[in-house]
Amino acid sequence: MAKLLLFDIDGTLMEESPTHTASFNYVCSSIYGVTTDIDSFPRHGMTDTGILYGLLKKENVEDDQIRNGMKKAFSAMAEYVSANLKPDDYKLLENVGHILERLHNTTYSLGILTGNLQAIASLRLEKAGISSYFVTGGYGDDSRVRSELVNYAIERFGKSIEREDIYLIGDTPLDIRAARDASVNAIAVATGVYKASDLTGSDLVFNNFKEEKKLMDFLKI
Ligand SMILES: [Mg+2]
Repeated sequence: MAKLLLFDIDGTLMEESPTHTASFNYVCSSIYGVTTDIDSFPRHGMTDTGILYGLLKKENVEDDQIRNGMKKAFSAMAEYVSANLKPDDYKLLENVGHILERLHNTTYSLGILTGNLQAIASLRLEKAGISSYFVTGGYGDDSRVRSELVNYAIERFGKSIEREDIYLIGDTPLDIRAARDASVNAIAVATGVYKASDLTGSDLVFNNFKEEKKLMDFLKI
């Protein structure tokens, strides 16, 4: 039976990308003409659509104006990241490469479930040399709601799969909530801004990918 492991990117596979983060202030200014402060915005676990929306709402930009500029803003964000990308933007967390290599060629297919725009996610995975491991994905421009990204990942997977055979791996309470809302398994790893004790309500929580046995035992590999 097919099984699918969906990985979050920031704080899970990689460190957060400073250029991606900076691209929000850049497009809020260049497309919407407002000054925003992404660094003080609590964004971890949110989709790029949700972050952009939240930042602009905070500056009292009208819903219609936000929606009308969004397509242009997403293109500008992807261009900004592509033009300014540095090695710090695709730094893998410890043991991630090894874990992916080990999971690859098991009964599990691997996918991405990230708040990053698809163009930005693809670029960072490519640069990090891990894009070939992933056969599907749900991305931040698919929906503002993280749990809905699971539907897109299933659709792009293109094979029939039960929700009970899908596992979502992420580093924030919002990843766990998305898994619950999408009726899939939740795995939490404390390599982002949250500690293991903050990541309650998941089916498995571990500190980092060096705790390989814990993850493999849970997945029965
Ligand atoms: Mg994350």
